[in-house]
Amino acid sequence: MLEIKNVHKTFGKSEVLKGVNLSISKGDVVVILGPSGSGKTTLLRCINFLERADQGQAVFGNMNVNLKAATKKQIHEVRQKVAFVFQNYNLFNNKTALENVTEGLIIGRKMIKEKAIEIAKKSLDKVGLSDKYNAYPNELSGGQQQRVGIARAIALNPEIILFDEPTSALDPELVGEVLNIMKKIANEGTTMLVVTHEMSFAQDVANRVVFMDEGTVVEEGTPKEIFTQPKEERTQQFLKRVL
Ligand code: ADP
Repeated sequence: MLEIKNVHKTFGKSEVLKGVNLSISKGDVVVILGPSGSGKTTLLRCINFLERADQGQAVFGNMNVNLKAATKKQIHEVRQKVAFVFQNYNLFNNKTALENVTEGLIIGRKMIKEKAIEIAKKSLDKVGLSDKYNAYPNELSGGQQQRVGIARAIALNPEIILFDEPTSALDPELVGEVLNIMKKIANEGTTMLVVTHEMSFAQDVANRVVFMDEGTVVEEGTPKEIFTQPKEERTQQFLKRVL
């Protein structure tokens, strides 16, 4: 469904991505693990053009996009297929939960307001926020705000959702509610690419785990392969530190 090829990105003198390849099939839940600074977030951001890669391709079915030189039109097309969930939620603080979800449908998808509201309500219901349609972000807990972020992504009915450390800004007691929603939508067959430090999510929900270090994919496999028989020394060392 999505093939990422040879992604390179340098910030100043620091080469953050050194030719990353990744292949994702429909229905996959792929978790990217790796030490802080290994390029995981940058990779996600390059796929969705929040960051411009220096080199690389993304192939969505029969659509082949150059990650460095994509046109505005191509970026728009990619964003029809790819939704993004941010670490810090990225909600509009002056809009209600419902308006945060309808915004992308009305502006990005040119949907009429009534239809957008109907879809947004369904999405908020799905993440357990049917009683919070009219709440503003500052009236919601971090976990609830991130659930609005997830509702906004699923409302777009994308082919894939990219999650950039979706629970790392949350107080520990709020992490579970967000992971449970992610697990629920994964079980419904949503294709997901998730950067996270939540090892239990990687072990229980992912069907593939990718370990990155210093801008490259060091190793990938099933959760069982990666967590019980990692082949590479760097993967072994990382898991020793985090488990
Ligand atoms: P990870 O998600 O694995 O922690 P990141 O992709 O966030 O890694 O960061 C990789 C490296 O790139 C880090 O050293 C980070 O400081 C650097 N970096 C990320 N974004 C920028 C940016 N916009 N400008 C300069 N350096 C950046």
